[in-house]
Amino acid sequence: MDNKSNYKYLLSDLTSLKGVGIKTANLLKRKKINNIFDLLWKLPKSYTDRSVSSKIKDLKIGENQTITISPQKYSFPRIRNLPNKVLCSDDTGEIDLIFFNSYEGYVRKILPIGKEITVSGKIGFFRNKYQLTNPKYISEDSSLIKQKHNTYSLTEGISEKLYNKIINQIINKLPILNEWHSNKIIKNFDNINWNESIKKLHSPETIGNYKKNFYRRLAYDEIFSTFLVNSEIRKKIKKIKKKNKIFLEKNQNEIIDKLDFSLTNDQKNTLEEINKDLCSSKKMFRLLQGDVGSGKTIVSLLAAFNTIISGFQVSVMAPTEILARQHYNLAKKLFPKNLNIQFISGKSDYKTKKNILNKLSTNEIDIIFGTHAIFQKKVTYKNLGLIIIDEQHKFGVNQRKKLSDKGGNNCDILLMTATPIPRTLTMTMYGDMDLSIIAEKPKLRKPIKTYSKLESKINDVIKFVKKEIKVGNQIFWVCPLIDESKKLDHSSAVKKFEYLKKLFPNQVSLLHGKTNIEEKEIILNSFLKNEFKILVSTTIIEVGIDFPNANVIIIENANKFGLSQLHQLRGRVGRGDKESTCILMFKSNLSDNAKKRINILKESNDGFYISEEDMKIRGFGDILGFKQSGIKNFKLADPIHNKDLFLLAEKEMKRIEQSNEDISKFKPLIKLYDRADIINDIA
Ligand code: ADP
Ligand code: MG
Repeated sequence: MDNKSNYKYLLSDLTSLKGVGIKTANLLKRKKINNIFDLLWKLPKSYTDRSVSSKIKDLKIGENQTITISPQKYSFPRIRNLPNKVLCSDDTGEIDLIFFNSYEGYVRKILPIGKEITVSGKIGFFRNKYQLTNPKYISEDSSLIKQKHNTYSLTEGISEKLYNKIINQIINKLPILNEWHSNKIIKNFDNINWNESIKKLHSPETIGNYKKNFYRRLAYDEIFSTFLVNSEIRKKIKKIKKKNKIFLEKNQNEIIDKLDFSLTNDQKNTLEEINKDLCSSKKMFRLLQGDVGSGKTIVSLLAAFNTIISGFQVSVMAPTEILARQHYNLAKKLFPKNLNIQFISGKSDYKTKKNILNKLSTNEIDIIFGTHAIFQKKVTYKNLGLIIIDEQHKFGVNQRKKLSDKGGNNCDILLMTATPIPRTLTMTMYGDMDLSIIAEKPKLRKPIKTYSKLESKINDVIKFVKKEIKVGNQIFWVCPLIDESKKLDHSSAVKKFEYLKKLFPNQVSLLHGKTNIEEKEIILNSFLKNEFKILVSTTIIEVGIDFPNANVIIIENANKFGLSQLHQLRGRVGRGDKESTCILMFKSNLSDNAKKRINILKESNDGFYISEEDMKIRGFGDILGFKQSGIKNFKLADPIHNKDLFLLAEKEMKRIEQSNEDISKFKPLIKLYDRADIINDIA
């Protein structure tokens, strides 16, 4: 077979395997195993050694053992529910093989009298005789049984025996693919090829050896294929020619002068990077990354302003109306009065909406703020020059690609995210974009003081809250959902609200998943205006909203949250220049491991550091629910443990890009590892 049919074979349907019918294939499909290649990543957890056989007299009761026997006598009772029985022997003793729910004909067929048969299973002892009940493994060919049999975490409805049978089949026929990596790269893995690596991955002797060359090579394949796809998308976007924007920095500075703070160096630098992109004739596709409170909004609004004065329209999308409105209000405050600035809300009446849509299509509106509604099909822009998307870390590559296609060629794209993740993950998840990072926070800002408290000490906390309210400060009080699976379970928040209301009459409000959107907005706005002091809520308060006057956050049952999530929650305070406090409350004393994690949070206000440390403890999949978000999930590679491989892949990718090397030899790699729609037209 040639290389192409080799890798195509790996992508073929599961039903092409012996022993896999439509039923089994469907069970596997439910686990997202759609073809032979997918099955390769179903890894054995351990194995049962059936390779050594024993004599009957040496059998150990209760253990999995293999014996070669010869059947002597059948007993097929005619009474229902009594098992069929076959008396067997070797030259040292006798054993009964017991079959429940079996047909006589089947038993006769697999255990013919007088033949030598090898069987394996857990040995029992009953009425002074060894017995083996429903043996899993029976064969005339002892070599089929005398092996190490892998143990898999089973898919319901598929037996271990079937798994082993299927995987053995695949491994035995595993094609040898042409090497896609350069000699230099493959040297890092002692020159082991893909085929051998997969075999080792499934060999009982090497289970869990993730530091070995075969495992690292396969992890590298995965990482590299992701980087390749990212690079191809980048190249495609870079090829798009656009009308460049023309503006004078002088105008931008007039707005900067209106601010009551000066920009940090990182804000200035990232703004410059973005401005340069706006002025170039290549389409911008850039991510602005910065921890909560690092001041991304103003950077994006300045870029928006520059786009508008070069004659284009801008649309700004935020995940919630409240956040969109906050951005809108800021633009209203900062931008010159002659600009047409609009906000579109789900609640706006038909006439208002229609009017806005009209004016967008005639270029009367310069900038529009809203939720995803501003990208619906019926919304047409006359001359869209920049799309800004805030807090959309859950957008996957596919969605971003669609977005970049929308808006047309002249439209630049700026995404913003506060999700602090290690660089290895950024490279993976956002490698299709250019990256601007705001690392430093505004200078005046004092670090948030973080404490942990036992729930039984709530009176201390109340005392503290009273003191804060007295000096005019506001407080967030966060209660987690009691049962994550019931998204509407907000009983703890309701209870706390009732409790606090008595202590602080007319000073407390409540927000939870059942509060309707209008009410929610009213409550948040009145909190913003400092009309009450304590906001009790579940975690529904979105990231990104700026409450400069709130400087205390109390998080109950804090062990329900991951560190990165706690950091994000904590980021709701500490945005103004006041001293802020975060109190983490716990039901009972913390375990050592939990203490270790909480200490990371107390020591540091740096989201990137926190997420990296948290990942070291918990593994990357759990952080901020990446697993659920559909963002790239590696089969073997781990952004923490395999950091060196990510860096190696990055370096190799740069080399290939710079030397303009032909990438067609990587086609099988991409086809096997990334089957997203976006790469259909690549290579
Ligand atoms: P994020 O990066 O989380 O979106 P924001 O843009 O909402 O952060 O900014 C958080 C707060 O910091 C806002 O109140 C904003 O006015 C303020 N801010 C932004 N830049 C600076 C700066 N250079 N100095 C002081 N405060 C700033
Ligand atoms: Mg923000």
